[in-house]
Amino acid sequence: MKKALKIIGLTIVVLLLIYFLATLFVPKIVDKSHNKIRVEAPYHVSDQAQSVYSNLDFVADMHCDALLWKRNLLNDNDFGQVDIPKLIKANVGLQSFTIVTKSPKGQNFDKNTGESDNITALYLVQGRPTNSLTKRAIYQCESLFEFAKRSDSQFRVITSSSGFEKYLTDRKLNKSIAAGFLGVEGAHALDGKLENVQVLFDHGVRMMAPTHFFDNKLGGSAHGISGNGLSDFGKEVVKKMISLNMIIDVAHASPQIIDDIINITDRPIVSSHTGVKGTCDNVRNLSDKHLKAIANTGGIISIAMFKQAVCGTDAAATAKAIKYTSDLVGVEYVALGSDFDGSVTTPFDITGLPLIVEELLKLNFTKNEIEMIMGENVKKFLLKNLP
Ligand SMILES: [Zn+2]
Repeated sequence: MKKALKIIGLTIVVLLLIYFLATLFVPKIVDKSHNKIRVEAPYHVSDQAQSVYSNLDFVADMHCDALLWKRNLLNDNDFGQVDIPKLIKANVGLQSFTIVTKSPKGQNFDKNTGESDNITALYLVQGRPTNSLTKRAIYQCESLFEFAKRSDSQFRVITSSSGFEKYLTDRKLNKSIAAGFLGVEGAHALDGKLENVQVLFDHGVRMMAPTHFFDNKLGGSAHGISGNGLSDFGKEVVKKMISLNMIIDVAHASPQIIDDIINITDRPIVSSHTGVKGTCDNVRNLSDKHLKAIANTGGIISIAMFKQAVCGTDAAATAKAIKYTSDLVGVEYVALGSDFDGSVTTPFDITGLPLIVEELLKLNFTKNEIEMIMGENVKKFLLKNLP
């Protein structure tokens, strides 16, 4: 009996030790293998493109999933696509940090269900809380604020238009600071409870997308099964978001959800990271009809930087989608929404954004138009639409 207890005890100790060691090494391996870049920094562009880029007052990116990984964003890491030193090096004024809480096994663009989940295992090996999706989201919110606190005033989290205005004033005097704001990818992060909209808002979330890769209680995903629009619960959530001045993000939403949202609100809406059917036709990308409808709300269409979104693996493919969208709806509605660190391979890390400018110049965008696309449109939008 005593011997048996000893063996059980020893087994538990060994298992705990293995788990502890796994939390130290596995998260970095997973992070590295999911967020690759095609070409390593440093990046070289023409003198003209570099000069335009260096003179940009405000660069913004509407989507990255860097908080999903157990990565110290205060370090200039030699892997991954975004961290705070890289934001500052790249002269990026604002990065949206979006939160993923659940993603299906075998995640693909065409058809997924919510029956399986990769994030449970990822969180487990990261030593993060796995039991509730809301808690998973809160964990990522708190980690961004924690990075800000430890950043020696180099980084701050924006939660209001007045805070944003103050930040812009401070940044006029010191360009070596950066900021982020929080979004959520998929409102299954509410654990099915309307009151959790307020909970996430109180933790700093200012943008949320109804669905991510699978249909949920709010309605259909562009990559789901049902193709449904907003459910009654989905409508309640959207109304609550509107009452809090949270930004509605339609990236990953089913086409019917986009229609439904446009029908129930006259608030400007955002597509935080997507491509367009006009240059890359797939289930997720925005149709001309939806590009016009989003622009019509006074919204923002942020173009992504990975193969499945723009049907190309370089900055030129993203620039082509930007050009198509600008020609269709007007340059004042177009922005960048890379999807950095979103389990995608990108052409470059965030310090490669001058390559986008190079391609925009080739497409005959003026300096002023490039300023708008690279950040001024987002700046204006957030000053007007943050609470
Ligand atoms: Zn996404």
